[in-house]
Amino acid sequence: MKKVFVFSPKRIIVIVTALTIGLFFVTSSVQSKGRGGSRTARTSALQAGTAKVDITPKKPVNMAGYGARKGLSKDVHDPLSARIIVFENNDKRLVLVSSDLIGFYDGTAEYIRKAIVDEFQLEPSELFLSAIHTHAGPTLTMDKEKGHPNNLEYTEHLKVKLIEVIRKALSNMGPVNIGAGIGYSPVGANRRELTFDSSGNSSIRLGRNPYGPTDKEVLVAKMTKPNGKTMAALFDYASHGTCLGGKNYTISGDVLGLAEQFVEKILGDDVITAAFAGASGNIDPWFRVLPAFNTEPGWIPEPVLLGTMLGEEVVHVFRDIGKVSGDGEIATAFITLELPGKPRSEDTIEKNHPPTPLNITAARVGDIAFVGIGCEVLTEIGMAIKAASPYKHTFVISHCNGAAGYLPPEHLYIEGGYEIRSSPFAPQAADMVVKQAVKMLHEL
Ligand SMILES: [Zn+2]
Repeated sequence: MKKVFVFSPKRIIVIVTALTIGLFFVTSSVQSKGRGGSRTARTSALQAGTAKVDITPKKPVNMAGYGARKGLSKDVHDPLSARIIVFENNDKRLVLVSSDLIGFYDGTAEYIRKAIVDEFQLEPSELFLSAIHTHAGPTLTMDKEKGHPNNLEYTEHLKVKLIEVIRKALSNMGPVNIGAGIGYSPVGANRRELTFDSSGNSSIRLGRNPYGPTDKEVLVAKMTKPNGKTMAALFDYASHGTCLGGKNYTISGDVLGLAEQFVEKILGDDVITAAFAGASGNIDPWFRVLPAFNTEPGWIPEPVLLGTMLGEEVVHVFRDIGKVSGDGEIATAFITLELPGKPRSEDTIEKNHPPTPLNITAARVGDIAFVGIGCEVLTEIGMAIKAASPYKHTFVISHCNGAAGYLPPEHLYIEGGYEIRSSPFAPQAADMVVKQAVKMLHEL
């Protein structure tokens, strides 16, 4: 464990009390400006701002997610966006960034996080920089040797756009009420398929395992203005953005992106709908890795079908959320864990392999909790965190504030398979992550 930043309300009270005693005789003219200077005055009423920006590549780009796919994107099926939800209360901020991208790989998480944290003087715990893991979007890169110039340019523009859109969200802060509800969707399926060779030897391959564990929960948060007007929707669902496969050269948000777009179409374009990929390391869409949007007459293209199905459940849950509250306290925490590691692309567990760092971010707004994990968490881990969370509504968010690779639960290492082989974590890491996340939730 390296860095720990925990800002629980209790600790803040202790710190504030100490500071108050210390400063009592100094001056009476000091104003309590927030960090960043422009934070709203102290209030117990929750404030929120939202904004959305188009991040569809303007030029052909290398596409992320399938190593064998070479060549540049050919066209765009649906626009990619970044959606921002900012909460503020009592000088405490929470900036949620949902982006229609695969994730912030190859050092881009640290690079873009630092730019945002510095620009807005955030605590590391106050930023959730996340991606919905679409495999039909651009590769982010800062590698001038290997990266395509269009991708390098895209990544730089993305950084600037994210800063601008967060600034926009911060400029339209106002009182907000928030509530949450739960639905379920069969759109995601466990992809660890058991197969046998002619000698009867078993192995796990990427496919469909309809009986395997799948977190089917659709967790939805609803934000409304004090006059009742709907303002934003947040939803969390565990699925890879891999309805489209490595033969596809069309840009798309895939299932989660299409679900966001569907909900915005139904609720109104001004109701920003931000998706978060849940614990989806071993979950693919029911229809997976297809070569293209099928244009056969009468056929509904699978990404659209599944995105619409998920989106309709989000709207059902959203409309059923009756209780919203405007006095949500904000608390956040961040840690970089040094977890037992193993070589990537190997099944072997070396004894003295160096540890693999992993960022975990926890936050709550009132009694709605968020756990951001900087890697691809397998579904069993997300379910464990939710089951042990002291909060009924806990968003478990993969691909958040880092991109460390697959984190499988210990019992799956015996079976092996793609996620195990490519994981940079040793078997005991998952249990440590679950315990740490739950501890952080309790301390918020
Ligand atoms: Zn993945």
